[in-house]
Parts: sequence; C-alpha cells; structure tokens
Amino acid sequence: MAKIQMKNAIAELDGDEMTRVLWAVIKEKLLTPYIDLKTEYYDLGLKARDDSDDAITYEAAEAIKRLGVGVKCATITSNAARMAEYNLKQLTPSPNGIIRSVLDGTVFRKPIQVKNVQPAVKSWKKPFIMGRHAYGDVYKNCEMYVDGPGKAELVFTGADGKEIRKTIMEMKGPGVLQGMHNTDKSIESFARCCFRYALDEKVDVWFATKDTISKTYDGRFKELFQKIFDAEFKADFEKAGLTYFYTLIDDAVARVMKSEGGILWACKNYDGDVMSDMVASASGSLSMMTSVLVSPDGKFEYEAAHGTVQRHYYRYLKGEKTSTNPVALIFAWTGALAKRAELDDTPELGAFAKKLEKATLDLIESGVMTGDLKALADPAPKEILNSWDFIDAIAAKLN
Ligand code: NAP
Ligand code: MG
Repeated sequence: MAKIQMKNAIAELDGDEMTRVLWAVIKEKLLTPYIDLKTEYYDLGLKARDDSDDAITYEAAEAIKRLGVGVKCATITSNAARMAEYNLKQLTPSPNGIIRSVLDGTVFRKPIQVKNVQPAVKSWKKPFIMGRHAYGDVYKNCEMYVDGPGKAELVFTGADGKEIRKTIMEMKGPGVLQGMHNTDKSIESFARCCFRYALDEKVDVWFATKDTISKTYDGRFKELFQKIFDAEFKADFEKAGLTYFYTLIDDAVARVMKSEGGILWACKNYDGDVMSDMVASASGSLSMMTSVLVSPDGKFEYEAAHGTVQRHYYRYLKGEKTSTNPVALIFAWTGALAKRAELDDTPELGAFAKKLEKATLDLIESGVMTGDLKALADPAPKEILNSWDFIDAIAAKLN
C-alpha cells in the first residue's frame, strides 16, 4: 500500500527518559509504516540542550513558528540532581517555558476520555479544555512582611515622572503585604489564544474572574476579553454556533460541577493552576491528558501533559518492559498530524490521525490497557499489557 504523503513538515521535538523511549516505538510501529513522515527533527534531550547552551531549544521554537505545527516529547527540567546525573555544564531553564515565551502562547489541557474510565463528576460527558493564563499575577508578585505599625502604599511613577499614590492600609501592627501586576498586552494575547483554540475545537468559551471585588484588576481582564471577542471573534463564533460566556469565578466553579463539559474554561493564572489540577484528576489520569500550546497568531505545539515518567525509565534501564501509558504521546502526534492536514488540505492525513485515535480508544474500551488505568477502569480490565505489546495491539487494530 502506498504511504500517505505530507506536503509540509512538522517540527519534531524529541525529549527524555521513558517518553523518549516510547516516542521512537510510536514512530516505528504506528506512524512510519503508514505515512511518509516529514519532520524537522530537534533533539531536546537534556544533554543536547546542555551541549548547545539551549540554542537547540530556541531553534526548535523558531521551527514551530515557521512551520506552524510542532509535536513535542516530554523533557527534563534540570535541577541540582539532574546536573549530577547528566554531568551538565549549567542549569538550563524549562524548555516549555522557553517555547512558550517565543510563541507568546497559552497552554490548553484536554483529557482523553474513554467509556470505561469515568470522570469522578457524573454529569461530565465531554472533556473540559482548561486554558491557563501563564503570565503575571501572584506568580510575579512582590511581597513583604512588616513587623509593626505603619502606612502601606501603592505607588506608580510614570515614565513622565508623574506619581500616583494610594493607601493600601494603615497597619496597626505586624502583617503581610503584596503587590502584583498584569499587562493589557498579555491579557489580550491570552484572550486571542482562547477564542482561537475554541473555534478550532468547536467549543464554547467560559471565562471568570472576581471582578465584583477586584473592580479594576479583574475588571480589566473582563473588559479586555469582551473587547477582543467583540472586535475579532464574535462573527466567527456566531457562524460556528458557539458562545462566549462571562461569569464570576465562584459561579463558574459551581456551574462546572453541573455541566456536561465540552467547554473551554479560560482561567486567570492562579485559578488555572488550581482548577486544571482539579479538573485533570477528576477527569481520570495524568497519562490520558494532552496539552497544546497555541500562539495568538495560530501556531500549534502538541504534547502529552505528563512528564518523562522517570521512575518507569529507571526500571526500563534495569531491563523491565514497563507498562507506561503511551496514549497522550500518541494523541500529541495525531493532534499535530491532524493540524498539518487541515493547514495543508491533505484529508488523507487527517483521516489517518482520526483512525489512529479510534484504534487506540477502541482497544482501551475493549478492556485492554496499561497498568496505570487498572484501578480506574470500570468494568475491570481484561488484559494489562506492557507499552510495547500495547502499541503492537494498536497497530493490529489499525491494520
Ligand atoms: P511525570 O513524569 O508526569 O510522572 C509522575 C508519575 O505519574 C509517574 O511516576 C507515574 O506514576 C505517573 N505517570 C505519568 N505519566 C504516566 C504514563 N504515561 N504512564 C503511566 N504512569 C504515568 O512527572 P515527574 O515524575 O514529576 O517528572 C519527571 C520529569 O519530567 C522531571 O524531570 C520533570 O522536569 C519532567 N516534566 C516534563 C514535563 C514536560 O516536558 N511537559 C512536564 C512535567 C514534568 P508511577 O511511578 O506511580 O507509576
Ligand atoms: Mg498546579
């Protein structure tokens, strides 16, 4: 049978440890037998990043920008222990952080649902896509403890030297203070990423803040979201039969618990940090969660939400065939291939991506899965396979 041809390449970012091992198996067993795979390969393994002083990471990010589509394996973020383990020259920053800043992008997380792993919340029928603003607020704060009475003030000195001064509190005794910020530019980019990705996924957008209390700060988020929506997305949303809904964060949380899902929930930085972990764990398993980085001008990078599965890797190095779940990695590839197909107008490639996803989900729904899903599956699984046999079983279904 003739292999499926690709018009343009995908930026392929290889990674570390167990996910790097599975990456190669997925390509060998599930992709290259069917597709004449066109990728620009970047080795983002920790050693290669260290050797190149991270130049390779920046090159890869630029490649995603140029090609419009990337697929990334999980990578180690270096720390003191990794420095010794890999004999590194230096501590390098998180590659995901670098790529996110080059693309000015937002990360969306979406669970992969199967019938036999039910979400903890009974009403959830469709996945929630979580969009977290990744700039500013409490994550870039300035705080202090004061050990006695005094006047706390918020002061802004304009570039023209003009000063604005507000009293935060006349402190009667010791206490804590905090200053934080965000920028119109970052909030607007975030809004664009959310609306664009929702159109792509054909889902409604919910956005929530606490603007009744924080009238200026959170109020600005609400205002800018509405402004970007009205000016740039309203017509497309109407055409697609989709809506944008704004509410208070406490109301949003209550509604989410009763909703059936199928919504992109846009969250401010802190809300997204907390709520995406809640939604992720209530949806099933980290190993069944995909992640996509979307830039405001429509570049996409697909990856698994989980890390390099370090503990499994050490067992693998000792000769064990681990039962590590490759599903989120497979879906990173199918996401990237489907996006490439859409941009290049190559429906055959898009259809293959869908077929591979279906074969994977059908296999799990038939009761055959990896060990991580054992405790979650209802009914109990028929067969637990190691990663290699599981991938072979997907290939058998594909054929
Ligand atoms: P992790 O790799 O996500 O693994 C945490 C635990 O979750 C694993 O030990 C395993 O539990 C379970 N798990 C995760 N994915 C699984 C899968 N596909 N199949 C089966 N079980 C799975 O997180 P980590 O151990 O905190 O981090 C390891 C490395 O990954 C770190 O160096 C970190 O910097 C990096 N990391 C990278 C990314 C990224 O590139 N996007 C994201 C997060 C972390 P059991 O061991 O109990 O089976
Ligand atoms: Mg968190």
